[in-house]
Amino acid sequence: MNCLRFKMDFCTQRTASAKKKHSRMPARIAWFVVMLAAFSTNSPRAQQNPAWTDTGVLVNHVGFLPKGMKCFVFKTSAAVPFQIIDTASKNAVYSDTAERAPMDIVVPQYGPYVVGDFTALIAPGIYRIQVGGKTSRPFAVSAEVYRDAERKHFNYFTKQRCGNTTKNWRGAPCHLDDGKRLDNGQHQGVVGGWHDAHDVRKWLGPTLFGLVGISRVMEIMPQWDPGTAFEELRWGNTYFLKMQEPQGYAMEYCAGDDGNYWSDSRIGTGDDRPIHTGPATVKAQYRFIWSEAALDRMIRGQDSRYADSCWNAAIKCYAWTDGKPASATEYASAIMGCLSMYKTLSDSSYSLRAVAYAESLMALQVTVAVDQSLPIRGFFRSKKGVNDYFREWYEGNTPPIALGDLIETLPNHPNAARWKESLRMVCHEYMLALSKRNAFSIAPYAIYGVPTSWSIQIGQSAYSYRYGDENNVLGMNSPLASSGIAFAKAAAILNDTALLRAAQRQLDWIFGANPLDASTVTGVGYNVPDGHHNGNMAAPNTPDIDGGVMNGIMCCFWADQMNWQSSEYWTPHVAHAMWLEALLSKTESPVSLQPSVDSRPKFSRVSELIVDKPGMNELVIRLTSDGIRSVTLYTMQGRPIARCNAADRGIWKPGNLKPGWYLLACASSAGISTRKLLVGCQVK
Ligand SMILES: [Zn+2]
Repeated sequence: MNCLRFKMDFCTQRTASAKKKHSRMPARIAWFVVMLAAFSTNSPRAQQNPAWTDTGVLVNHVGFLPKGMKCFVFKTSAAVPFQIIDTASKNAVYSDTAERAPMDIVVPQYGPYVVGDFTALIAPGIYRIQVGGKTSRPFAVSAEVYRDAERKHFNYFTKQRCGNTTKNWRGAPCHLDDGKRLDNGQHQGVVGGWHDAHDVRKWLGPTLFGLVGISRVMEIMPQWDPGTAFEELRWGNTYFLKMQEPQGYAMEYCAGDDGNYWSDSRIGTGDDRPIHTGPATVKAQYRFIWSEAALDRMIRGQDSRYADSCWNAAIKCYAWTDGKPASATEYASAIMGCLSMYKTLSDSSYSLRAVAYAESLMALQVTVAVDQSLPIRGFFRSKKGVNDYFREWYEGNTPPIALGDLIETLPNHPNAARWKESLRMVCHEYMLALSKRNAFSIAPYAIYGVPTSWSIQIGQSAYSYRYGDENNVLGMNSPLASSGIAFAKAAAILNDTALLRAAQRQLDWIFGANPLDASTVTGVGYNVPDGHHNGNMAAPNTPDIDGGVMNGIMCCFWADQMNWQSSEYWTPHVAHAMWLEALLSKTESPVSLQPSVDSRPKFSRVSELIVDKPGMNELVIRLTSDGIRSVTLYTMQGRPIARCNAADRGIWKPGNLKPGWYLLACASSAGISTRKLLVGCQVK
């Protein structure tokens, strides 16, 4: 039996810690300041930026895909009716009631909230929400709704180029003297790549996400702007290829905290930025492997010699790294890296390693609720024998993403059913289960084996939406976007609309559906804070760049909008956001569900769908083909009243239908087809 309407999900927050050793003030003082700011005012944004407008209706500032899930959040204590207004006709085209939603984020000035769902509104257009005497900003419903943001993300990388270019934001070459090896003092040419953030560092692990983000989007939408994307991939990869040692590993980085300055670009003059020559983390090695193998398969058709160089880099690094993973985060990275090798060269030795690492990862999965006070399971221990759990901040929520890659790449493997159950458990019984405890439906950041001062404790368990530790509290955009990616992949694999809804709501938070009503992507949406302008280095400072994705909001607040913890760009956030936007756009591919009263039934294979003769108040539908993904019943005005998914195979009883005309829309691999249906008398 399917659900007739989508249940409301609820929101959250999360935090992170610092990947960088920023330290402007002692950690405990910094934390105190953060907390003081969080609790000292009911409207911190109004104080910090009087120009901000607050409509009170918290919704994705960009908008939604026609078939996508659509929600908004409104601060009030009881259910309230709402209307959706078409800005062109000024007519109300949809109405419903926003229902009270849980809110477990412990910041007292926020909430209580209600959540309104208007997923049923599928017609493209520009709309506003009216609720409780307030009117939202205009937003779009369109199949192309995230394309503008995607273009800006791509261009962001060009603006962040380091090396011999004038296309970067500075319009001038920089750091042509990178860099000087720390182990022997010799010069080694590692010019190129991207600046990582609102600074000029070139951390290797984080900036590798540039290759990941662009490549993942190009794999999902290969038709989209390949020329620019390939040029950008090659630009970034110039640096990474040069950072590989003869032994096979990629070095740590050139220009970290000790290289955050403008050099004179002349080799040997004393300001050449240092290269840290030891191996980068195991996670970063597999990200390197994933990227080089991906570049091979994308670029080979254009330039086989360049593809060869990428492949050779991948296999050298693979040989050095194989066998080293020893934790959940490393197993997840290894699965993705091995699968990328396998996708490029169908050599089963790579897929066998991915399968083996998956066994190691699943062995760390907690499959029994640790506490009946909080009956959740499916999350991963950080390491064998350790009483703590997986958490990564900028690296993202990699275990479910890796499981998704595995099932997509090896769908017929004998272990596939176990992988699916593992993926279902982490997504449903952990991430989704906790996301329902807050009105914004954001996914948890982590489970803690030992409760912390910032975690939410229930019984013996502790969880947190907030990313961070005692020393650092950061915005949550990378964890949230990567959880959205995991949700979206699992939704497609498991054919599960609840997970698709959850994926959408992670992006909604980043695009403004959060307690501060602020988008944290420059050039996209409203109330975007000014970027962090790094005061630790000499001018010019990195300006605000369209498409940059900031660290974001820390669990409903920020201490100071221009603090790096909230409003600094980081490469992994950009990569995860653009990847999530592409996944959602692909899942919700352009279709026309608009009913046409004059149209004849268009089911291409009517035998796939059997509508039994209904009783006076009951409709029975039997799905008979694997090709059907879902069937939705609409009123003649286009409002969905019931949906049946393939997982609900069998007899479907929406129940309590009044006799009359309805529309049935059947989604199959061939697309969407619709037909009119007369209930109560006969079936046409
Ligand atoms: Zn530079």
